[in-house]
Amino acid sequence: MGTDNRYDIAIIGSGLGGLTTAALLAKEGKKVVVVEKNRVPGGCLQSFKRFGKEFDTGLHYIGSMNSGQFVYQLFKYLNLLNRTTFAPLNSDAFDTIHIDGKEYRYASGLNNFADTLIEYFPEETRAIRRYISDIETIADSLNIFKLRELPDDYKFENRWAGISVYEYIESLTDNDTLKKVLAGTNPLYAGTREYSSFYTHAIINYSNITGAHRHSDGGNRLVEALIASIKEGGGSVICSQQITGFEFTDDNRIESAITADGNTVVANEYISSIHPQLLVDIIGKGPLRKPYINRVKSLKNTISVFNIYAKLKKDRVKYHNTNHFCYTSDSVWVASDYDKTEWPGYFYLTTPLSEDTDNFADKVEVMTYMKYSEIEPFITNGVVTDTEGYQTFKEQKAARLINAIEERFPEIKDAIEEYNVSTPHTFCRYTGTVEGSAYGLIKDYNDPLKSFFHSRTRIPNLLLAGQSINSHGIIGTTITSVVTCAELIGTNQLIKKIRNA
Ligand SMILES: Cc1cc2nc3c(=O)[nH]c(=O)nc-3n(C[C@H](O)[C@H](O)[C@H](O)COP(=O)(O)OP(=O)(O)OC[C@H]3O[C@@H](n4cnc5c(N)ncnc54)[C@H](O)[C@@H]3O)c2cc1C
Repeated sequence: MGTDNRYDIAIIGSGLGGLTTAALLAKEGKKVVVVEKNRVPGGCLQSFKRFGKEFDTGLHYIGSMNSGQFVYQLFKYLNLLNRTTFAPLNSDAFDTIHIDGKEYRYASGLNNFADTLIEYFPEETRAIRRYISDIETIADSLNIFKLRELPDDYKFENRWAGISVYEYIESLTDNDTLKKVLAGTNPLYAGTREYSSFYTHAIINYSNITGAHRHSDGGNRLVEALIASIKEGGGSVICSQQITGFEFTDDNRIESAITADGNTVVANEYISSIHPQLLVDIIGKGPLRKPYINRVKSLKNTISVFNIYAKLKKDRVKYHNTNHFCYTSDSVWVASDYDKTEWPGYFYLTTPLSEDTDNFADKVEVMTYMKYSEIEPFITNGVVTDTEGYQTFKEQKAARLINAIEERFPEIKDAIEEYNVSTPHTFCRYTGTVEGSAYGLIKDYNDPLKSFFHSRTRIPNLLLAGQSINSHGIIGTTITSVVTCAELIGTNQLIKKIRNA
C-alpha cells in the first residue's frame, strides 16, 4: 500500500470472486493486490474451527467439476487441483429430495437423471425429457460456460433470464409431486416464485447434474490454493484493511482507494468484488449517476440463513455421500412462503468429508432460511446489544431445527455431541453482505436488465465482480470473474487458455 507502491489492478474483497479474478490476472503477469476487510480471507469460502473440527461457511458442493467442464478447467488452469482435492458425490444420488416422507434421488449425468426420475414418474416421461433438453439448451447457449470462443459479431443476449422458474415448472407438468421434485433444490438459489429465473435454476442444476463434487478438505484449502496461485504470479493479499472511500481524478477515474486505517491503495484499475450496495455507499456522491445509484439501492437481496454446525459422536452416523433437501412444509418455495410460525419448513443437511471420515461422518452442517428481521430486535448499529435475548433466540431456534432433523434423521439428532449456530447477523459480520443475504442480490426474471450488471461501470477504471453481478455460487461467481478479467485481457485468448489447461 502507499503511493510509492502502484499496482496494475487492486481488487476489493477476498471472496471467491476477488480471489479468482486476482489469480487470473496475476497469471497474465499483472501486478495485483487483493484488499480484504476481515482478518481472514475467503468471504463465504472460509472454513472455521469449532470443537476441533473444521466447518464450512458457504462451500458444500460444486458443479461442473468433471474434466473438461468449466470449473474443473478453471481450477486446473489456476493450479488449484494440485493444492486441494475434490471427490464426486454419489452418482446414483448426488442430491436427495425429501417430500411428503418420500425420498427422490437426483442421479448424475443427464440421461441417468432423467431415467431415475422416470422410474418415480413413468407417466411423466415427456415432461422429464423436455426439462433435460431445456436446461441443456440454456447451458449450451453460454459460450464462456462451455469454454467456446466468442464469434466476432457476438452480442450477449440472455433471453432465458426473463423466464420464471416457477412458471416454467408449472407449465411442464400437472403432477404436483414432480413439480416439487424438480424445484426441490431451489434453496441453492434462494428460489422464490416472485423473482427467480429459469436461467439461474438451469445453470445450477445442469452444473450439478453433470459434475457434482464435494471438496475433500475444507473451504480454507481452496482459499489457500487461490492465494498461492496469486502469489505465484507475483500478487499479494492484504487482510484487515477495509476500503471506505476513493479519491477521483478530474476525469472521474479512481486515483486511489482509502482504507479505514487511512492507508491508500493506488492502482491503474480497480475491481470491486463486494456487494454492489456496499460499493455505492463507499463511492458516495461521486461520479456515479443518480439513476444508477437508485437502481442498485432499489434491488432486493436474497434471504439469509440460520445454520447448525455439529460435531458428531464417533462412529455413530454413516457418512452420507449426498446432499439432503428436506421439506416439512407443503410448498417447496419456502423463501416465498416464509412463515415464522411454521419455521423451519425446510432444511438442507450435509455430512462433509474430512480427514477422519471413513465410513462414518464426524460432523454435520444444517442450513435453513431466516429473515434478517427476526434478529433485528437484538441488534443496534450492527452490534448485538441484547446479548441475553439473542442467546435465548438462538437456543430456541436451534432446538426447533434439531427437532425437525430428528423427524427425518433420528440417528443424527442422537449423535450430536456439540453444536454451534450462525444467524443472519453472523453472515453480516463475516461476509459483509447486506442483511446477511445468502447469495447477494436477487436476479429478477421480471426485469433482468435491472438486476444483471455489466462488468464495466461508468467510472472508467472500476469494474465489478462477485456473486451479485451475474450469478452466484461457485459456478456463477467464477464465470463472472472470467467475464470481468476478459474485459482487461481479451475474452477469446483467456477462454482458450482455460479450455486447454
Ligand atoms: C450458507 C451458504 C452456503 C453456500 N453453499 C454453496 C455451495 O455449496 N456451492 C456453491 O456453489 N455455492 C454456495 N454458496 C454460495 C457461494 O459461497 C458464494 O456465491 C460465493 O462464495 C460468493 O463469493 P463472493 O466473492 O461474491 O462474495 P463473498 O464471499 O461475500 O466475499 C466478499 C468479500 O468482500 C469483503 N468485503 C466486504 N466489504 C469490504 C470492504 N469495504 N473492503 C474490503 N473487503 C470487503 C468481505 O469481507 C468478503 O470477504 C453458499 C453461500 C452461503 C451463504
